[in-house]
Amino acid sequence: MATLEVTFLQNQLEVRKQRLEQAIALAPQNSGLAGLLREVDSALERMDKGTYGFCEQCHDTIEQDRLLADPLVRYCLDHLNEHERAALQRDLDLASAVQRNLLPRPGLRAGSWETSYHYAPLGPVSGDYCDLIPSDGQLFFVLGDVSGKGVAASMLMTQLHALFRSLTGLPLPLGQIVTQANRVFCESALAGQYATLVCGQAKSTGEVEIHNAGHLPAIVAGRGGVLRIESTGLPLGMFLEGDFSATRLQMEPGDMLFLYTDGLSEARNSQARNSDDEYGVDRVAHLVRQQAGHTPAELIAASLDDMRMFAGAAAQQDDLCLLAIRRGN
Ligand SMILES: [Zn+2]
Repeated sequence: MATLEVTFLQNQLEVRKQRLEQAIALAPQNSGLAGLLREVDSALERMDKGTYGFCEQCHDTIEQDRLLADPLVRYCLDHLNEHERAALQRDLDLASAVQRNLLPRPGLRAGSWETSYHYAPLGPVSGDYCDLIPSDGQLFFVLGDVSGKGVAASMLMTQLHALFRSLTGLPLPLGQIVTQANRVFCESALAGQYATLVCGQAKSTGEVEIHNAGHLPAIVAGRGGVLRIESTGLPLGMFLEGDFSATRLQMEPGDMLFLYTDGLSEARNSQARNSDDEYGVDRVAHLVRQQAGHTPAELIAASLDDMRMFAGAAAQQDDLCLLAIRRGN
């Protein structure tokens, strides 16, 4: 573990030690507190000796995100005892349930806008983010991908969800919503944590405003052909000051907007000799065009079929999220 993190954790433990000593002075009959104090002292001792952060069973390094979440852990994930393993599984199950509850209602409609999505975490939780917020015949949509995987990424995803839900309730133009979300996200994310996303607002007139912040191109397909809406800004969480410019377009009845995470575009073919053989954005765009005239749910089903056909026997390699939005008649 880097010196910076150990120093941070050491300060955290010193604070906890003081708190524990105060609590014990007030409630000496609480035996649990004394046990915790012994564990804190033992962790501080390991820091002095330089053995902190190494598994006591295999002497390999303990996962850093777990130490940051709980500086008292003494075993790597492979060497948890039965009790710890069960506790971890309960935590993950709960986190997974919390995350599933944040997803929008399947088949949601707002005015003439029809939607469908597919959300598939690789593990119990995902760093992918998808939300649909209807208001007065308009639809606010967002799809993103938080750096990293697992619980740490899912916590950030949860935070983004709350941020956008709060900000879209305010009378702000979309550009300001993204700018504000970026600022708050920057303040709370650790260095190296960021999120790429596409968000937008679809109005009842068919006018759509889209911001692509460092994410894969959004695909719009309709009678006018296929349009890619490329990123025009940096991911959220990288810099406090960011310029998030918008793309505006007019969607006609029957036109489809398709958003996806790299779980689709970077899916790999199990037969490929060349490791660069990815599904790719071209194939996404081609498929969306081919499916013109179909419903959002049909487009999602067709993309999943096509991805599985491409990947062959290869297991899912990443979190996956797809979102299709069509302007109905
Ligand atoms: Zn171990």
